[in-house]
Order: sequence, then C-alpha cells, then structure tokens
Amino acid sequence: MIYGFFGSIPGSPHNRGAHALRGNGKTMCLTFTGYLDYLNGRRVISNYKTVFSEYIPIQEIADMVMSENIKDTTILLSEIQVYINSLGADSEVLKTFIGSVIGQSRKRNVDVHYDTQRYGDIHPRLRVQTDRAYLPRKFHFDGSPCSVDRCEKVHIIYLYMHDPYQYEPITHIRADVVGQLYDSNEIVAVPPKRVRKRKKKEDE
Ligand SMILES: [Zn+2]
Repeated sequence: MIYGFFGSIPGSPHNRGAHALRGNGKTMCLTFTGYLDYLNGRRVISNYKTVFSEYIPIQEIADMVMSENIKDTTILLSEIQVYINSLGADSEVLKTFIGSVIGQSRKRNVDVHYDTQRYGDIHPRLRVQTDRAYLPRKFHFDGSPCSVDRCEKVHIIYLYMHDPYQYEPITHIRADVVGQLYDSNEIVAVPPKRVRKRKKKEDE
C-alpha cells in the first residue's frame, strides 16, 4: 500500500481552519504509522533518523526499490517531492522510480509511507496510486487549533483521512510522546547530492 501524509490538501473539508501550513504533524504521523508496523515485527527503513527504523539515504532507498532488492518492508520517506523534483520532470529515472514504488508495493509486500507539503506537488502518477491520503491537524490540549509554525505548547495531532474520505479523525496522537521517536529538527529536505556531501563530512 502507498500512504501519503500532507501539509495541505486544497479543497478538502479537513483543510479548513486557521492551522499552520507547516508543522501540522505530517512527519509525526508518518513516523507513528511506521512505528506501528515496527511493533508488528516488520522491517522499517527511513530517509530520516528514528529510534526504531534503519536510516538509509533516499538515493540508496531509491536504488533498492528500482533494483527490486527489497521485500516485506515498510519504507518511510519524508519530503519525497524533494527527491522526485531532483530527478527532473518526466525523466526516465523518475518514471522508473515511481513505477517501481507502485509495482513493489503491490507485489512484494512493500508499504511506502511518504509525506510532502502540498497535495498538488506530488507527481500525478504517484498521487493517483496513493491508497490513503491523510491530512493531520494540530491542536492544543484546550481544543484550539494551532496556527503557529513554531509553537512551544503541548500538542495533540488529529489524523484525518482525505481519500477515501472520512469525516471523523481516524486517530489522534500526543505530539510530546511520538516526538520522542525521531528528531524533528533534522533536516531531510535536501537534494541527494547535498545529502552525500554532508554524509562525507560526517565520515571525516
Ligand atoms: Zn501550538
């Protein structure tokens, strides 16, 4: 299955309200669903660091996906559109990557969970193949929606499903608890080349 977590979905009834565009909890929900798979005994790999998954740079994950060298695995990809954009519009690599993601999620028991800022930014082919589209919304404990990107209050994230549409949130999570599963300050939205450079620096 392919699951998408979005910062905004224009036109979705869930999109209403004075919620912050960024920091709505999409990576937190991405991490949470991956963690549930981990608890169920699945192998989980991710392009960002968590306390339960194997961290693998997105270029290597893409190579694994495209060479079909992967099965029975949950893949967490944060800011997937940054990688997709780096491949160039309608390039062969892009088509191969998206085709492999779709094909493997159907045939090899590979689940792909991704997040991205805007629903409309994701490649149309991947978007139509996304089985579940989620829109998290961030609230305070007093029930008021959070409208500040960087807010120090304690939050609760309501996970709404846009497609297939469900009126009520499917679950809610405590940001202070799930936030301990990963480093939310880690920058993952960098093109693959810069990732490699940075990794080299760390190795030195
Ligand atoms: Zn807040």
